Amino acid sequence: MGKTLYNGRRNRGGTMNVARVFCVVVAITATLVPSVVLAQSGPKIPTPESVLGFVLGTDRELMDYEQLVGYMQKLAAASSSVEMLEFGTTPLGRPMYVAFISSSENLERLDELKDINRRLALDPEIPAEELAYLVANGRVFVMETLSMHSGEVAPSQSLPIFAHRMATTEDLEIVTHLDDVVLMMVLCHNPDGMDMVVDHYREYLGTKFEGSSLPRVYHKYVGHDNNRDFVALTQEDTRAIAALYSTEWYPQVMVEKHQMGSTGPRYFVPPNHDPIAQNVDEGLWNWSAVFGSNLTRDMTADGLSGVASHWLFDDYWPGSTETSLWKNMISFLTEAASCKLATPVRVEPTELRVRGKGLAEYKKGVNMPDPWPGGVWSLGDIVTYELSSMSSILATASRHREEILEFRNALCRKEVEKGRDEAPYYFVLPREQRDPGELAALVNLLQRHGVEVDHLTADTVVGELHLSAGDVVVPLSQPYRAFVKEVMEAQRYPERHYIPGGDVIRPYDITSWSLPLHMGVRSIQVDMRSEALEALLEPVPVNAFTVDVKLPDELWAVAYPSTANASYKAVFAALAAGLEVGRLTHPFGPEGNQLPSGSFVILAGQAPYDALESIVNRISLPPFVLPDVIAVALQPIRNPRVALVETYFHDMDAGWTRYLFDTYGIPYTVLHPEDFDGADLAGNYDVIVFPAASKDVLTKGKYKRGDRYVAASYPPEFRKPISKEGLGKLTKFIEGGGIVISWGGSTGLFTEGLAPASGEKDGETVELPVRDVTKSLEEVSVPGAFLAVDFIPNDPLTWGMPERGGAFSRGSPVFATSIPSLDTDRRVIAVYPERDLLLSGYLEGEKALQTKPVMVWVRAGKGQLVLFGFRPQFRGSTPATFKLVFNALLLPPLGDAG
Ligand SMILES: [Zn+2]
Repeated sequence: MGKTLYNGRRNRGGTMNVARVFCVVVAITATLVPSVVLAQSGPKIPTPESVLGFVLGTDRELMDYEQLVGYMQKLAAASSSVEMLEFGTTPLGRPMYVAFISSSENLERLDELKDINRRLALDPEIPAEELAYLVANGRVFVMETLSMHSGEVAPSQSLPIFAHRMATTEDLEIVTHLDDVVLMMVLCHNPDGMDMVVDHYREYLGTKFEGSSLPRVYHKYVGHDNNRDFVALTQEDTRAIAALYSTEWYPQVMVEKHQMGSTGPRYFVPPNHDPIAQNVDEGLWNWSAVFGSNLTRDMTADGLSGVASHWLFDDYWPGSTETSLWKNMISFLTEAASCKLATPVRVEPTELRVRGKGLAEYKKGVNMPDPWPGGVWSLGDIVTYELSSMSSILATASRHREEILEFRNALCRKEVEKGRDEAPYYFVLPREQRDPGELAALVNLLQRHGVEVDHLTADTVVGELHLSAGDVVVPLSQPYRAFVKEVMEAQRYPERHYIPGGDVIRPYDITSWSLPLHMGVRSIQVDMRSEALEALLEPVPVNAFTVDVKLPDELWAVAYPSTANASYKAVFAALAAGLEVGRLTHPFGPEGNQLPSGSFVILAGQAPYDALESIVNRISLPPFVLPDVIAVALQPIRNPRVALVETYFHDMDAGWTRYLFDTYGIPYTVLHPEDFDGADLAGNYDVIVFPAASKDVLTKGKYKRGDRYVAASYPPEFRKPISKEGLGKLTKFIEGGGIVISWGGSTGLFTEGLAPASGEKDGETVELPVRDVTKSLEEVSVPGAFLAVDFIPNDPLTWGMPERGGAFSRGSPVFATSIPSLDTDRRVIAVYPERDLLLSGYLEGEKALQTKPVMVWVRAGKGQLVLFGFRPQFRGSTPATFKLVFNALLLPPLGDAG
């Protein structure tokens, strides 16, 4: 990542202490008199409107990312209190920037302040005197990330005004704040999405679709789910942001700025609602409450009504940027009410309402002391709220500078001590794993998070547990202990109730994120401390798992086990390079060093083997090298021609599927629903993948709310469904030998029978021997949990899977099969076990799910369908079940099976 400090100032010297007055900006040459006298002589600090040509917050005006960056660079060039740092690149290649805003003295010593931050965050043994020195000389770093959700435009649109105010203020109170605090304003958390949304807004301005949502995800892949990626860190922009706070700058305060719906409170501030994460220290909850109550007070004093807290948003789940809570940062989000991008809305007083936890009615109450009365709500209003909010956060950080810095180091000490004094003490990841590539991926991920990861230099015994040299050990005695514990253990949802014996408070989002479970890595929690073990620990070097293989001159093939996800990456790369690949239909090799059924043999072809060697060294898994021909049964595989169905309805699951396919080198074509009409499905594709989408969106182009169909606000060209003709073509594709893979709501296209095949006169619905029985399981509620699943062995769909595994489930669909009729068949591939379903998270109604089919293979004519009841690639965070999708893509056509 190129880190270039943008600094267009001609001179940073000569400011001295008098530069506390901020309108005094820059000396033109170093030889001039002290800067306070130079108020008029520096380059003029440009106002946002002088650069942009309009006042930010004006109705129907939005700046795009280039304009935002352009202004902030001009501001940084003219002001010694603003400095720009490029810190990463978006998935579509845009540079990402953070603006440091503070006193010029602070910005002069940014490197020194950064070192102080790191010491306070990571060093549990700072001597008292030195600590006092660091606290006296340190500054509170407040990192704010703006508009990660691109429809939530106002935070980024507010920044230039706020930054200009800070750079030109003559208010001595604010000057003092900026001397105590360094603001790290991430200009825009999602620059790709910002441009998509602004372009869309401009395109439809003045039409009846003005202010409509962007039809498609506002991101290369994941759209709104970018705030669900802060454990798995799959996306480039997520990684860049996480690195800023986890391993580079160690800010003490983290704020994520969002917007919500239009008809509730105007502005949400912390504290959040229950449940809260149990691994997070009480001090962090108390500090976010301090910031929150000051926000309510300050914003109300600024005349802004409708500020609410303790409402709707719980604080239990670490998938958002608030993962920083688990890394000892005071972290919270704010949410402003929305208009339609830059188009105002008028809210009738009778339309005002609240939903969710903490506010049962839209009335004056302790969680909303000053309700907004209704009326017109515009981008300008939201900008006003944001400016007030940003100022309040700055003031609170300033007021508590020393306490916040002391708190950060005290928490570091406390977490390190806790890890030494209370169980669990270590998580051990044995070197021997079913999927060694995922062990490597997990270690890399933890290191990326700033977690210390060690390995054993010799065999040892802890209690009854025999550990081997090379086993990975993650000690809990480290500053980010809470994070380690959270992501390494299985989740148990903290059940809290509204009243004694009343309903359980439901979670806002999912309830499981255990990395070992989701990644299929065996992990052992050790609850006994061992100094002997600790004496054998050495840090795992960064990039410890790279492969460096020189293939021999005489080579028949290389082989990869079916148990490893990385094997599939090698296979798709080999197929793309035109190499021949087959799968072992039976286990091969000596006991103990065996390649299981379904393992891959990549034939080397003619020497030299450069292409193969480059593939082998790109995969984090050493291959089995086979110099001589061996006699084994190989099922040949083809590079499937894949179509992936993606709707325009902010289809995040399809986006995640594209991400998965791109990551594993699987080529595909995106089909939108309206494309089915004109497509030659059988001629162009072998496999059609239907990720989770509503059947109503797919076949009607509408959402279903209760009994009502609701049209989305997208322009009509983006809400065309799969037509009757298209559905008929799909049936014809299947019956002629095509493969369909489907999960989530889109399985409804198949569990209620296939549409009559196109071109058939008087065709009738093709009944399949599978149906969805979710509706009959009313007591079941799975907000998103990791559940045990039993897979049938020795099937091309389950090759590489354990017989008892786990999968990420949201509770539906659940299947029932029946004796097939006409030209169909079915096989139950996976069922929920008889007991102990819940591996991680929260589940109601377990009994109803027990022994139910949750993955089914169906045949119709010559075609095959693979239907999943769980989410095999949920948010890119469930490698434990990725290979079920890959196996389905690689299914041999019927008749070819070995
Ligand atoms: Zn949001």
